[in-house]
Amino acid sequence: MNNSHPQSITAAGSGLEDAIDTAPETVAIIGSGPAAWTAAIYAARAQLNPIVFEGEPVGTELPGGQLMLTTEIENFPGFPEQITGPDLMDRMKAQAIRYGTRIVSERIKSVDLSVHPFVLTPNYSAPVKALSTIIATGAMAKWIGLDNELRLAKSGGGVSACAVCDGALPVFRNQVLAVVGGGDTAMEEAMYLTKFASEVIIIHRRDSFRASKTMAGRVLSHKNVRVLWNTAVTDVMGDDMITGLKLEDTMTGAKSEVSVGGLFVAIGHVPNTAFLNGQLALTDYKYIKVQSWRTVTSVPGVFAAGDVLDDYYRQAITSAGTGCMAALEAERWLAHEGIGESPVLDITQPPQVLPPVISCPSDVA
Ligand code: FAD
Ligand code: NAP
Repeated sequence: MNNSHPQSITAAGSGLEDAIDTAPETVAIIGSGPAAWTAAIYAARAQLNPIVFEGEPVGTELPGGQLMLTTEIENFPGFPEQITGPDLMDRMKAQAIRYGTRIVSERIKSVDLSVHPFVLTPNYSAPVKALSTIIATGAMAKWIGLDNELRLAKSGGGVSACAVCDGALPVFRNQVLAVVGGGDTAMEEAMYLTKFASEVIIIHRRDSFRASKTMAGRVLSHKNVRVLWNTAVTDVMGDDMITGLKLEDTMTGAKSEVSVGGLFVAIGHVPNTAFLNGQLALTDYKYIKVQSWRTVTSVPGVFAAGDVLDDYYRQAITSAGTGCMAALEAERWLAHEGIGESPVLDITQPPQVLPPVISCPSDVA
């Protein structure tokens, strides 16, 4: 098998024929968050000469992933002095480059996984063939879409889309914190924030929660939680730091304001899987389906890593962990197929001892 690489990976091409005439990449990684860069570090160190398609800035989706939208990261091991999200992502990318990872700053707009080598089509360059592919395109936290919401989210001004990530930061201690949303995520975020806040205000646009009865009941009975029903947030106030919210009654249109020291937007996530166009098995919520505690997808040779397969943990460290797993699985799969230097392992069997299945709190309550 010819494992050489195209000379110019960013040269504009004319279409699928260009890819057919070009030697395949051994490992192509799509994405640029902790999962993608960890996969790249492992694949590069395994001499698999990976190529990463890191995406392009599109609205709040930025190369570097979700951590580009936050400031201090306190829970990624190895940084006791703290590190900002963008700095952490720069360091991961630099580490991947150090071991020889090649990067294309383009989005993959479509893939053909029905042929092998797979064909990946970037927005501008010629399609690229790949013997194995790791999909690490992440998920997008949904935002309300207010200018001041996004400005303060990016500047560390007290707006976040992840309570587990940011709730423990000193800036949120003993503050009145608002959570927007009425689903299970909002309930979880609200419960989590009760540990730190003086009061949690849930702001929901309707008069009933979408969340499961168990989770909603737990939140509603908490003494430090108050709900503003039929209420929409129309603006976020504060220059450097959030000071309050402008509200509108969704039934009457009446306007009001509330003072808060933090806003957590918990209105859902969208996994970045649309470009797969149905070629991989997905869950009901459009996350990539993988075998339990593996990164193996429904197509042999295609692996998934990070938030794109995970609607439960959604953390940088778990994304990095599955990025490592995906690279190791790609390496072993390539070896199994007779490409590369890895020992041949039986990749058809799941591990003998599986960790216990973790249920959502709503399932076990
Ligand atoms: P993502 O970070 O989601 O990145 C994927 C990237 O891939 C996208 O940004 C995009 O650039 C690229 N991409 C997408 N589609 C394509 C395509 N078709 N072609 C090419 N490229 C593409 N976690 C923590 O552990 N600690 C924290 O403190 C923390 N704080 C957070 C704060 C906020 C506000 C948010 C929203 C999340 C936070 N998280 C935190 C969660 C953490 O950011 C995610 O779990 C993690 O970034 C997921 O990593 P990922 O590698 O799966 O992909
Ligand atoms: P979700 O169920 O889609 O709920 C999103 C909530 O945000 C809804 O209440 C919705 O309001 C509101 N919303 C959406 N867009 C909004 C906007 N622009 N402005 C204001 N409000 C907006 O999403 P989720 O809570 O992330 O849950 C997704 C899935 O994961 C669900 O199946 C859930 O059960 C599951 N989950 C389970 C657990 C668990 O069991 N531990 C934890 C988290 C998530 P409306 O209700 O008016 O539509």
